Amino acid sequence: MVTIRIFSLARQLGLQSKALIAALAELGVEDVTPASSLDEDTAKALVELLVEQAKAARQSAQAAAEAQAAAQARAGSAQKEAAGEVAEEEWGEDEQPPPEAAEVERELGELERYLAELQTEADAATESHQVVKLLSELAARPSGPRPETAIEVPPVATVLGHVDHGKTTLLDALRETDVIATESGGITQHIGASEVSVNDKQIVFIDTPGHKAFTAMRARGAQVTDVAVLVVAADDGIMPQTVEAINHVKAAQVPLVVAINKIDLPEADVERTKQQLLEYELVPEEWGGDTIIVPLSAVTRQRLDELLEMVLLVAEVQELWADPEADMVGVVIESSVDVSEGPLATVLIRNGTLSVGDVVICGTACGRVRRLRDWRGKSLPTMPPGHPVVVVGLSDVVEAGDITQTCATLKEARQIAEEHKEQQHQQQFAGDAQRRLRDFYRDLGTEEVKELNMVLKADVWGSAEAVKASLAQLDSQLEEVDINVVYAGVGEITESDVMLAVASQALVLGFRVAVSNQVRQAAADGHVEIRTYDVIYEALDDINKAMLGMLEPVYEERFIGQAEVLELFKVSRIGVIAGCRATEGPLQHGVRIVVLRDGEQVFAGTLESLRHFAQDVSTVEAPQECGVATAEFQDWQVGDIIQAYIQVEVERTAKPAEDSLAPSNS
Ligand code: GDP
Repeated sequence: MVTIRIFSLARQLGLQSKALIAALAELGVEDVTPASSLDEDTAKALVELLVEQAKAARQSAQAAAEAQAAAQARAGSAQKEAAGEVAEEEWGEDEQPPPEAAEVERELGELERYLAELQTEADAATESHQVVKLLSELAARPSGPRPETAIEVPPVATVLGHVDHGKTTLLDALRETDVIATESGGITQHIGASEVSVNDKQIVFIDTPGHKAFTAMRARGAQVTDVAVLVVAADDGIMPQTVEAINHVKAAQVPLVVAINKIDLPEADVERTKQQLLEYELVPEEWGGDTIIVPLSAVTRQRLDELLEMVLLVAEVQELWADPEADMVGVVIESSVDVSEGPLATVLIRNGTLSVGDVVICGTACGRVRRLRDWRGKSLPTMPPGHPVVVVGLSDVVEAGDITQTCATLKEARQIAEEHKEQQHQQQFAGDAQRRLRDFYRDLGTEEVKELNMVLKADVWGSAEAVKASLAQLDSQLEEVDINVVYAGVGEITESDVMLAVASQALVLGFRVAVSNQVRQAAADGHVEIRTYDVIYEALDDINKAMLGMLEPVYEERFIGQAEVLELFKVSRIGVIAGCRATEGPLQHGVRIVVLRDGEQVFAGTLESLRHFAQDVSTVEAPQECGVATAEFQDWQVGDIIQAYIQVEVERTAKPAEDSLAPSNS
């Protein structure tokens, strides 16, 4: 369990331990000393209580100040009265000028400032840590109770599969069928998404096929796909990119419909393809599984309707809705620049409604919407949620995955866009921020269970399996860290692996595989770590270390020195200084001290001031004389023993079991 000591929390809050102990008593926590540890929940409750107290105290200080002002005013009028003038106000009975109002105000101001700082730090840390999470929440469909104004929205489908299996042909066929069916004539410009109607329902298709685009969007936190359509050519069967696509879809936990394409070809073998799918846990419905499979032909357009119906069927279960009245949130699907219109962005509206004239903020760009066009190029005054729309009027080119929101004024929008630019800039330092964040949360004791996600690539299946099995074993040995292999595959590490790692915040582990410079660059851009090994046990050793690095550090208190109090001095501003003789080891400024009197602990806190011949020093070695003071404790007595302690981090170990080190196939 994560804990924090009272004195260390007090230091963070800029308060005295006794203030925390008093507040703890109100929470029913008693018999504690500054050295006592608090668990996470208690620490949180305590901070909340302190904030409440600060607010309440500030209010009463304000009231006191007002009363004082009123009293002074009355004193003024009393003088006038004495001078023969008529007093207009009556004296209150219980009024006294408030003592120390200014002092209370000052202290509370300080407390509030510390708490505000703490909150800001917490907010900033949370923000950088969870930026991807927040983005995905924004890009996600609205959740929670469905408002009365909610409407049904079309599902979003993405087409994935091996190269040349017919993804583009299928998308074109679906789109053209729709264009012909709706007689709108002419083929449209590609805006990155299109809508296809089936019976009076619609499906939004993302036009950029393939798992790279799919995962690239995910990596940026924008998971927009509701249903994935996996295209497998019946003449070719499952190929490497088919397997990659399956894994990416599984990692994204998106429902899947399989389109077995090219059934018009004489060499098409639907049964064999189905058989192959079994190997990837995709069991056709007719064989007792739950994978929907539609054999079709994108060229002859056979059974395309059936595919659309199946996509709708899968989506229906998800009960997709959005609220046109809600605040607008959209995700950029594609962007381009038009010579006459300037930057264009295709935005998939997730919630709310977008209208011409709205001020939008879109990633690092902003602007007032000049024009809106649907996927067929038709201009519209407004676009309800659930549909893709081309937005004209942005200040800058945006990126797929950027979140779009409306804003009250252009001025505000520009400011936010600037902040986004700054944030983007700062993402290079995200690693740092996360580390600091980890420290911060560790101190506050609020960090959750850690995950170590991995994308595994090996030269042969046997090796991949062996590493995977060993990782599972490591995982079972440590409760505080979860190891997840998001994907294990064979072959060199590709950009798509890196993308998947970005999306899953994973580490890429290569075992006897090559990594091209291009992939290394992609990894560097995405802040993904690639580690490659030739020997399994080296890999496991490294992961073990990485995992230990994620563990909560365990601290041990170590005795370093001792001193005896010989004399006491009273100094204004500082308080009581204990004149001591160090009898053992060093005493150090800032360390934890425990004061013993007749063997009983009378104080535990921080050594705030250490002096040697009236000079502030950081260390005093035994045997020497020194002055010790701390604002937290004034109650010194001659003969008190001061013991000094430091916190040392204890090394953690978790050895993988020996048998897991034996490679099974290498
Ligand atoms: P992509 O790489 O997955 O986008 O594949 P394409 O859509 O570019 O298709 C690759 C090739 O397969 C093209 O020559 C298509 O004409 C052809 N193709 C696609 N679908 C079918 C189909 O249903 N039947 C036949 N016979 N050929 C198809």
